[in-house]
Amino acid sequence: MRRGRKPSRELSYRDKKIVNRLNSSFDTMSRVAKKYGVSKQRIYQILIRAKELGVVVNRPRLLARHHGIHQCGVCGKILQVAEKDDLITKRQLSQMLGIDHEVCSWHLNQLKVSGFVSKKFATMRSDRLAKALHYYRYSSLSPSVVGRKFGYKNFYSLLSYQKKRGIEVERTLNLPIAGILEPEDRIPAIHP
Ligand SMILES: [Zn+2]
Repeated sequence: MRRGRKPSRELSYRDKKIVNRLNSSFDTMSRVAKKYGVSKQRIYQILIRAKELGVVVNRPRLLARHHGIHQCGVCGKILQVAEKDDLITKRQLSQMLGIDHEVCSWHLNQLKVSGFVSKKFATMRSDRLAKALHYYRYSSLSPSVVGRKFGYKNFYSLLSYQKKRGIEVERTLNLPIAGILEPEDRIPAIHP
């Protein structure tokens, strides 16, 4: 790589000005490049870096083409999580990776737009529901028991709703259910 990578977690004063300029005017990149005495290529790099740092940049389509997902550490980490689990909120994802929420969302979006990650991944809205579904999937308790544990009266319908929107909520455990559970814990025949 030609350019030296700055370890800084913030844009420089000049780079911020460049981003603001591009966001708030109709100036072309070449024009802004000229004005600040840098190359057009450098402007791209600044915008990409700004985006990666969670700064709002109003040129998303342009940048999407220039984001090297295969070289990106954040995208790599998100892919690892996505392989293992989809029952997660964006907040949980960014916490898990220890990165800023906005930064995380941006990279996640890059992965979705380019088809690396299912559009359904990390679309849960509620941390509590994500945890409950997760728990349900890996336990052998009935929906009503799991619901009660997490404070949901209508857990069964939440389950069907998630299924309907294409979220995988099937259980992965192959435990023999009958015999090892309390009667209360058995999967109910039918639920209203
Ligand atoms: Zn990335």
